Amino acid sequence: MSSANLVVRGGSVLDGTGSAAVPADVVIAAGRIVAVMPPGGGGPGDVVDARDAVVTPGFVDVHTHSDALAWAPNEADRLRLASLLQGVTTEICGNCGSSMFPASPRHAAAAAETVRATFDVGEAFADFTAYAEGQSRRYTHLAALVGHGTLRAAVVGFADSRPTSDQLNEMCALLDLCLTQGAAGLSSGLIYPPGCYAEPAELVALARVVARHGKLYVTHLRDEMAGVEEALEEALNLANAAGVRLQVSHHKTAGRFAWGRTTQTLQRLQKAMDDGLDVACDVYPYDAASTHLHAMLPPWASDGGISALLVRLADPQLRIRMAADIAGGVPGWENTVGNGGWDRISIATAARHTELQGRRVSAIATEQGADPIDVVCDLLLDEHAAVTVISHSMQEEDVRRVLAAPFSMIGSDGVPRDGRPHPRWAGSFARVLGRYVRELGVLSLPEAVHKMTGLPAARFGLTGRGVIAPGQHADLVVLDPATVADGADFDDPLARPHGVRHVIVSGKVAVRDGEPTGVRAGEVLRL
Ligand SMILES: [Zn+2]
Repeated sequence: MSSANLVVRGGSVLDGTGSAAVPADVVIAAGRIVAVMPPGGGGPGDVVDARDAVVTPGFVDVHTHSDALAWAPNEADRLRLASLLQGVTTEICGNCGSSMFPASPRHAAAAAETVRATFDVGEAFADFTAYAEGQSRRYTHLAALVGHGTLRAAVVGFADSRPTSDQLNEMCALLDLCLTQGAAGLSSGLIYPPGCYAEPAELVALARVVARHGKLYVTHLRDEMAGVEEALEEALNLANAAGVRLQVSHHKTAGRFAWGRTTQTLQRLQKAMDDGLDVACDVYPYDAASTHLHAMLPPWASDGGISALLVRLADPQLRIRMAADIAGGVPGWENTVGNGGWDRISIATAARHTELQGRRVSAIATEQGADPIDVVCDLLLDEHAAVTVISHSMQEEDVRRVLAAPFSMIGSDGVPRDGRPHPRWAGSFARVLGRYVRELGVLSLPEAVHKMTGLPAARFGLTGRGVIAPGQHADLVVLDPATVADGADFDDPLARPHGVRHVIVSGKVAVRDGEPTGVRAGEVLRL
């Protein structure tokens, strides 16, 4: 063991497979686990103290919107560190149809505008390689999906139109290129423009390309509210037609008309699996969601992209039509506010209106003596559409049911932004382990760790990660199961977690005794 340069000593090892903990030392050299030894057998080396703690593989956050963090200013380090401090060592971004690549010169200005509105910083990249090479000195590893909305925008633009067969072929070729370069799969966000304009045939054609690579089609369903079962059926039909592996993102049944329906959707997923489909889902441990404020408006409002949206927002007649569509609904549109009300929507991030952050839209409207639609449209205009919201739309019972499903895994859906973002970015993993494992017993500790490590790593093709065994990459977490808990909440959304002692990335100690060491050993993973 003379080559060993790091020994994680004295802990109970949860290897990520779902097996029970076993007392052992983990020996690391040159970024890899070289041995898992009986306690005391770890030999010499730099010691990481794991006494009275469990040692797990580094957590895989399968669903993030952390795409642009590498380009965020230095002051944003608190945002960058929030996942690492919980024990996340690999993030999977490019979700909900939105990635920072691919872009084409044809729609470059509109694409840059959309990336700015979506990710706050950064610009669009030509392909996965350009995106990967554009970032360095990461704290965590990063894998990236190709966003269907971004891909569509690069070829078709931002209009509500059907691609020609030439355009569809071009989209397939661009997707194939990015997957060949190492992107993790394809994501869709079927409530967001321009992805929401896609018909099934377009998505099936693209999913066939993904299937040829054996990668995942990851989807934010067209409806997670009143129409959630039909939307799930659409995704299952698509996956069956394309022969693609399916991942249902941040699974929920939100809004008063869908509460309780996870009973049906989880049974439907299990049946699809029994029928031979390779399908699973992910979930975050909160009963509130978060998204863009402009997603509360009917899809026609965004036809043509951000600049077209801004023009419509200023038109009093169109504001009346938007309010009417929210009140009455539009076939095929999720309509979050129609399923809940403006009193369930609070402003998360609005850079020029920080005084509104954390406040409900209905309360702002009452205070201003204004109609909620005018409050929303004025705010979107002032912020160039870059406003995120928190939607208090779910029931706790549904969250617990999805967490407990054997095929669910953990994804934060984190939107790392300043202001008052959803605490899920900084709290999801610690919250599952503290609240849902220790306090409520919804999951056992080995099960929960499996949903954060071995299960997602296998599903997303993260070769050599997700379990503790000789030869594996040395991404590890040492945590105290008696104290682990989320610190982040809606008032202090980036507060640090409790009980996560040490985090090792690529064999280097990136967090020691709960403090970041400054080590940046993360890489962009080419899958
Ligand atoms: Zn989503």
